Amino acid sequence: MTFKIGAHVSISGGPKKAVQRQKQIGGNVGQIFAGSPRGWKVSTYDEKDFEDFKTARNEENQTTYVIHSTYLANLATPKDGLWAKSKKCIQNELYAARDLGVDYVVFHPGAHTGSGLENGIKRIAQAINDLDIPKEVMLLLENTAGKGTTIGKSMEELHSIIELVDDDSRVGVCIDTCHAHASGYDLANKTDELVQEIENTFGLDKLKVIHLNDSKDPMGSEKDNHEHIGEGNIGEEGFKAFINHPKLKDLPMILETPVSDDKGYAWNVKKIKSLRK
Ligand code: ZN
Ligand code: MN
Ligand code: MN
Repeated sequence: MTFKIGAHVSISGGPKKAVQRQKQIGGNVGQIFAGSPRGWKVSTYDEKDFEDFKTARNEENQTTYVIHSTYLANLATPKDGLWAKSKKCIQNELYAARDLGVDYVVFHPGAHTGSGLENGIKRIAQAINDLDIPKEVMLLLENTAGKGTTIGKSMEELHSIIELVDDDSRVGVCIDTCHAHASGYDLANKTDELVQEIENTFGLDKLKVIHLNDSKDPMGSEKDNHEHIGEGNIGEEGFKAFINHPKLKDLPMILETPVSDDKGYAWNVKKIKSLRK
């Protein structure tokens, strides 16, 4: 099976530009924002934009694509206004995904901000139950680094959300390696323990996408600081074990590594490919 590797790319200038950017860095899968990551507005496109994006993807054989939700959304919040706004935004992102032929929308489960873990989990599940998830699209919960009152730092927490969803066939999981390491899973040495925990909770068939990021901060730090592949606390050996793991190796893997002057996505794609067996 072809190694599915790519990066988060910009859609500035229109969605089909994302395909060109992906090609330039050597990726064959990818992720985009549907609007501004720090705003609520989902960009509006017309029929031609949708078709151009699909055609470009087909031509370049770029298979899996993901829309990353805005960072402002919080489905765990006890505040009704913010909750409604977050639902509406994710709903628009789901429709954008359907129209663009994008397979998944991934979002951070959110923070309960003092209302309690159990309430937060119920709130997220209720929001998902209220959403109209198009049949062509799956909604993915991303694990978090675990800072403050954020929910989703363990496979157990993600599982308890999924368990409360009415139709869980439309819901899956995206694992971010930086977040997992920061939340306490030792990906420098023990990829198997994370895989085992997934198997014991929501199950591997719910795991659809990987975010590949090294972590600037140590295991258990709960800090969300991405680092270039091999240069952080997960390290080359950690990534070698992760990307070649028999139960993970065929999943689409998407980089969200920093972009600095000397190292961008192309460098990280190359690095990952050099670690692939
Ligand atoms: Zn994310
Ligand atoms: Mn991520
Ligand atoms: Mn992050």
